[in-house]
Amino acid sequence: MQTQNHIAGRWTVGTSEIANINPSDTSDVIGHFAQASKGQLDEALTAARVAQTLWWKAGVQKRHDVLMAIGTELMARAEEIGRLLSREEGKPLTEGKGEVYRAGQFFTYFAAEALRNHGDLAESVRPGIEIDVRRDPVGVVAIVSPWNFPIATPAWKIAPALAFGNAIVWKPANLTPASAVALTEIITRQDIPEGLFNLVMGSGRDIGQALVESPMIDAISFTGSVPVGRQIAASAVANMTKVQMEMGSKNPMLIMEDCDLDLAVAHAANAAFGGTGQKCTAASRLIVHATIHDAFVEKMVSVAKSLNVGHALETGTQIGPAVSAEQLQQNLGYIEIGKSEGAELVCGGIALERATNGHYMAPSVFTQTRNDMRINREEMFAPTTCVIKAGSYGEALSIANDSEFGLTAGIMTRSLSRASHFRANMRAGCVMVNLPTAGTDYHVPFGGRGASSFGPREQGRYAAEFYTNVKTAYVAAGMPE
Ligand code: NAP
Ligand code: MG
Repeated sequence: MQTQNHIAGRWTVGTSEIANINPSDTSDVIGHFAQASKGQLDEALTAARVAQTLWWKAGVQKRHDVLMAIGTELMARAEEIGRLLSREEGKPLTEGKGEVYRAGQFFTYFAAEALRNHGDLAESVRPGIEIDVRRDPVGVVAIVSPWNFPIATPAWKIAPALAFGNAIVWKPANLTPASAVALTEIITRQDIPEGLFNLVMGSGRDIGQALVESPMIDAISFTGSVPVGRQIAASAVANMTKVQMEMGSKNPMLIMEDCDLDLAVAHAANAAFGGTGQKCTAASRLIVHATIHDAFVEKMVSVAKSLNVGHALETGTQIGPAVSAEQLQQNLGYIEIGKSEGAELVCGGIALERATNGHYMAPSVFTQTRNDMRINREEMFAPTTCVIKAGSYGEALSIANDSEFGLTAGIMTRSLSRASHFRANMRAGCVMVNLPTAGTDYHVPFGGRGASSFGPREQGRYAAEFYTNVKTAYVAAGMPE
């Protein structure tokens, strides 16, 4: 397996290495991955600047063909690369495969976007002058991505960046370097200018920060935590660098008394525990109508207890381990915080032992929680969800809206008027009716409000806003001879 960085068109050894450990089985070392130096980062940035112009001039057919080839290969190899992804990140194999396939779909979607007409024509208020509004590439884009979707998240950034004629320097999360290398192998094997696509692995505080603070970049697309996002925003403003960020969340799901209760439990469990709760779209506040509260909790606990927690690559596993020992400790820490705040832990809350030594944790449910508790304010990224009792739809909605975040939000109800009211009045980037809060499509915009997001939307046609700069061109047509 390749374990090096890809800089200025070449696989390059690093100044040091890190071990990539399987969270399902800590005796399984996937490989030792190169860490880039600051000098190598500068080399990547310099090469990217030159390559970007060549790529832009190569034209839309070329960009379409390259993106289509990358997407097609990802989909064809979803099983093989998905296995590698699940091995290093810990999500069950079906989810790993699904993620790689989805990454492929981002590339084929943006292959077609490359061919779309992205300009406007306008008539000037001054006779004899023609105006067109066109979209130029932004230039060199820095991409910083997290470990929880180690291929899909970079794919939804890299694909539009390439489609609109940009060059890329990518800093993936150090916890998931194998997925990053697998994607880089496919991209750099294409017929693209040397240095158009660069992989610089290393820690966020070291190489990530050097990248986002560099005056040699034109734009930053970041997905990760709020504290890191704040720091990146500050440096972006200082350098006048265009920036787009997706960050934390505390997604609410309203469970109303007129819902299909079994469906509500199934969707809530899927959204709360899927991916071991390590999804920015996870349902972490279940706001339940008082009249069905006890019935809902009983069913929810029984589903949580029935879920099969185990090795990501084992058949039948529904919930994999936490991504790392630190993440598991943080998850258990939030269990203690919840208890000390007076919440009642009705299931889970403990680490689990399995045949292999991994970071396993039982799906956990808190009841008797209030929205002002830390477990309802802070993102846990754990297989833990909190039930909040509400006396009415109106109360439930105001609790849901009382958060610094606003990424996704859901309602389970049979009432059309409530569903419509919720879609109109829930302050979130994505609202779901009778669906889990997690699970989005690839061809429409994705993002949130408040502390969840900053800058233009990602995905779908909306991605053009970030990955291009608008230029208004005036031409005095004159009169024919
Ligand atoms: P994180 O610590 O913010 O890391 C995200 C990325 O930023 C990683 O590649 C990290 O590198 C890098 N980084 C860390 N410090 C940096 C710095 N000072 N300058 C530049 N880059 C830096 O987040 P995480 O712990 O990996 O992921 C969990 C968080 O991400 C959660 O809060 C979750 O909500 C959020 N998330 C949000 C979305 C969304 O779409 N809204 C999606 C996924 C995750 P290293 O980790 O290699 O050090
Ligand atoms: Mg981190």
